[in-house]
Amino acid sequence: MNELIEKIKHYGDEFCLLRVSIGPVQEFISEARKTRDLYIGSRLLSLATFRTMKPIFDTYGLEAIIYPHIKYSKERLSSLPNIYMAVIPKSEFHETISQMEIGLQNFWNDMQKEVNRKLPPDCKGYYNQKIKSPFYMNWVAVPIVIEELNSEYKPKVKEIIHFFNERKVTRTFDSWEGSYIQKCNQCGRREYPQEIYSSVQEKFKARIRENEILCSICLLKRLLNPDDIDVSPQKFDSVMDVSAAIAKKLIEQNKNEKHEIKEFTDNVKRIGNVIDNTYKNGECYYEDYLNYDFFKKEYGIPDNPDFRKLCEDTKKSLSAAYESLGIKEPSKYYSILMMDGDNMGKLMSGEVKLTSGDILKDADFTLNYQKKLSEILADTGSNTSELIKSQEEGNGNGLCVYSGGDDLLAFLPLETSLSTANKARSCFISEFRKSNIKQTSSAGIVILHHKDPLRRGLEEARKNVEEAKKSFKDKDAFCITLRLFSGSVVTWGYKWEIRTPTLQNLDSVKVLDVLRYFVSFMLESPEKKLSPSFVRDFMEELPSFYEYNERKSTWKLSEEMFKSEFWRLLKRHMPSESNLWKVEFKKGILTLDLLAESFIYMADPEKNNQVKNTKENFENFLQIALFLVREQIGGDLK
Ligand SMILES: [Zn+2]
Repeated sequence: MNELIEKIKHYGDEFCLLRVSIGPVQEFISEARKTRDLYIGSRLLSLATFRTMKPIFDTYGLEAIIYPHIKYSKERLSSLPNIYMAVIPKSEFHETISQMEIGLQNFWNDMQKEVNRKLPPDCKGYYNQKIKSPFYMNWVAVPIVIEELNSEYKPKVKEIIHFFNERKVTRTFDSWEGSYIQKCNQCGRREYPQEIYSSVQEKFKARIRENEILCSICLLKRLLNPDDIDVSPQKFDSVMDVSAAIAKKLIEQNKNEKHEIKEFTDNVKRIGNVIDNTYKNGECYYEDYLNYDFFKKEYGIPDNPDFRKLCEDTKKSLSAAYESLGIKEPSKYYSILMMDGDNMGKLMSGEVKLTSGDILKDADFTLNYQKKLSEILADTGSNTSELIKSQEEGNGNGLCVYSGGDDLLAFLPLETSLSTANKARSCFISEFRKSNIKQTSSAGIVILHHKDPLRRGLEEARKNVEEAKKSFKDKDAFCITLRLFSGSVVTWGYKWEIRTPTLQNLDSVKVLDVLRYFVSFMLESPEKKLSPSFVRDFMEELPSFYEYNERKSTWKLSEEMFKSEFWRLLKRHMPSESNLWKVEFKKGILTLDLLAESFIYMADPEKNNQVKNTKENFENFLQIALFLVREQIGGDLK
């Protein structure tokens, strides 16, 4: 018998299956101008969710929570999904719901107290429990008896999910109608706290930009530190911290080796002392930002000739440091990676695909089975967040905003984006495979510039996840959008893996690996690298490989022409003595053969009938490759 049932049966026979969601999701995980706000916002939502669960498991034990599986760690508790399912005794139902609501209100009061402590003396008391809570709780419950928990679990789950989806409501926000009051720059909905604003802004110059207007809720998110809410500190406050991560790591590793680098890091430390930020200082790694105007805007630094000179000196030592390391300045572009399990609703309501090809029998979808799914998701969530955050070579070196198991939001430097996306997907699939479940996921990746609004990147990443799922049969795909600062936008979508019939020793090829190898070849040292002109020349020739069939109104690719031109241009653009000609991707398979065969496959309309315009999609792939060669400070083959 199930542990949960064992534990609750003394309450009698009547229970409720309860499904709860805590909001507002949109506001807390996508409305942000800084990665820091996003991180804090997302963690607050998880912690709020946790506080509403607490009355349930304090009284009935952790077993009473069916989904998600709760792992007791700082990181996991602050990355909980905002939806959960539980079983509670029917007789205690109203009492429990009211405890949960009180828990949510208390959480908000605690957060207000926390931020109140930080305010300058003349503003103390502002957050004294008078700001209306942004959090709310929606729930649906269906009655269930022990017998049903034991043997008719699946129909009950389907029923509750059905009700839950019907009841989903979008919340309207209360906001003051006055039109002369300035609205918050971040959420655009609430007015700003005039009474305290100038005083708070003065005290937190380094955190609130000049001219930035924040409402009391967005301000609370901005002022709270990870420490204040007991979540793990993050290494990144801004997108500059993310994009510079790999260059910064190289500088740190070599600062005692070369005096040019030491000089630069000493200067950066001096700037850090002035701006009161010695650690999350990605901006110091860019020539364009090392000037007084930038620091004045971001940190409210008063004008002073010494500081101006320090900026100048740092700028000079910066180029010397990069030169001595043999790298260029890091890119001003970074990646947003959003990943989402495919058909999760079906999975969690019992339509489980097995690796054997069968579908799980209804009777086998028991309470225990669902708990197992919850555990798989919890493990995936923690493994993925480790992968994203890990500073080790070959790992993400990025910021994990949330990783709830079936969904992921992360920020990554360009240098690690492709391999990390691949690994995150593998991690998801393999965790399910261990339990003989066939489960896939799809991703949206957006590459964007520091100055491109974060909100737009997040919207686009979400759209790309949907696009990947919609465009490809059986989903299991990704879409990458490159948003150039000049305004042009390039999108490339594909299945994660392809099977090329010509490479017989290979089961399948990961498409992002093809891109990684291709880019890395072009980032090799000058005497052996593949010149990026290869891509330009090849793109010029590309249209001539296609022929239009009027009768069928389809395009046909001439494989022969494609292939011979590929190798001809390769010979022209890569030195004949380069060792890259012989590099093996796997024993017995040359990387160049892998590239050639994958390219032909990806460019062929007959093999890509799910792609709207195969040629254009392939051209976009080449464009993205060229961009990465231009922007990455090195290849990514770990
Ligand atoms: Zn706001």
